[in-house]
Amino acid sequence: SADKEKTSSVAKIKVVVRKRPLNKKEIAKKEEDIITIDSGSSFLTVHEMKLKASLVDLTEYLEKHEFVFDAVLDEDVSNDEVYRETVEPTVPAIFQRTKATCFAYGQTGKYKCSGKTYTMQPLPLKASQDILRLMHHTYRYRGFQLKLCMREDGKQQVCIVGLQEFRVSNVDSIRELIEKGNATRSTGTTGANEESSRSHAILQLAIKRSVVGSESKPARIVGKLSFIDLAGSERGADTTDNDKQTRIEGAEINKSLLALKECIRALDNDQVHIPFRGSKLTEVLRDSFVGDSRTVMISCISPNSGSCEHTLNTLRYADRVK
Ligand code: ADP
Ligand code: MG
Repeated sequence: SADKEKTSSVAKIKVVVRKRPLNKKEIAKKEEDIITIDSGSSFLTVHEMKLKASLVDLTEYLEKHEFVFDAVLDEDVSNDEVYRETVEPTVPAIFQRTKATCFAYGQTGKYKCSGKTYTMQPLPLKASQDILRLMHHTYRYRGFQLKLCMREDGKQQVCIVGLQEFRVSNVDSIRELIEKGNATRSTGTTGANEESSRSHAILQLAIKRSVVGSESKPARIVGKLSFIDLAGSERGADTTDNDKQTRIEGAEINKSLLALKECIRALDNDQVHIPFRGSKLTEVLRDSFVGDSRTVMISCISPNSGSCEHTLNTLRYADRVK
């Protein structure tokens, strides 16, 4: 049918990069913006400052790194536009048995934030609004369920903090639940950024349907939309830290981010075998990796020169997922 064609013509994997603006602190420290984006194109350039030493002097020079993605979003792009570019196109598909997952990838930390949470937080609510609108006006689906806040810790086990399921039917109750979930995530004594650099936060919206006339039977999940605010990507590189706990956590995060990349690539190649057993994170997302699935990866990057290495790592990861 025309409907089916419409769904299948949409790419299964979409990789989008979002650059955040320099913040006040960075401007005060005269940090430079090393990322240029041609507006309206899919090209992005990183200008890496390098030093060349000779016998007589030290010269600075710039090395250019060019990348192409499905979309590159400059610092002036609003959260509404981010939604339209990433999650919105997947919403109709989740009424057709599709599992869609949106990831935010990038560095985290007090001075290393890349805008993952800023990017991710508004998306579930915007999606809920569209889902509810579709439910009321186009479909006659009954239930609508929302799962909140699941985390992975570094101890080789899935640590679920406050995993709960709620049946919701209006935007206000969804907003309330999302706020509660966010509050849970940021109560770590070390502060929100420290906490989120060490954990993956998962929020899922599941659409359930009960067949008219047989309401006594349990409702079945039709489609699902998952939002994953990933642990800080720089954590994966923390494997040389002196602190043993940090090292173990870094290794586990590294493992999950690598496993995630492998799964997304396997999906993109239509492989029958999806290596979701590679980590706890991918195991938790197992049901989103089978059947009709769609993935959106939003790679968040900082513009400042001090983050150049992390930024290049983030872009190379995104490049490999593509
Ligand atoms: P991360 O989750 O990657 O650690 P956050 O999303 O918490 O980073 O962002 C850190 C800070 O930067 C927040 O104060 C946030 O409001 C701000 N910020 C991030 N991205 C943007 C953006 N695109 N535009 C404006 N401010 C941003
Ligand atoms: Mg964060």
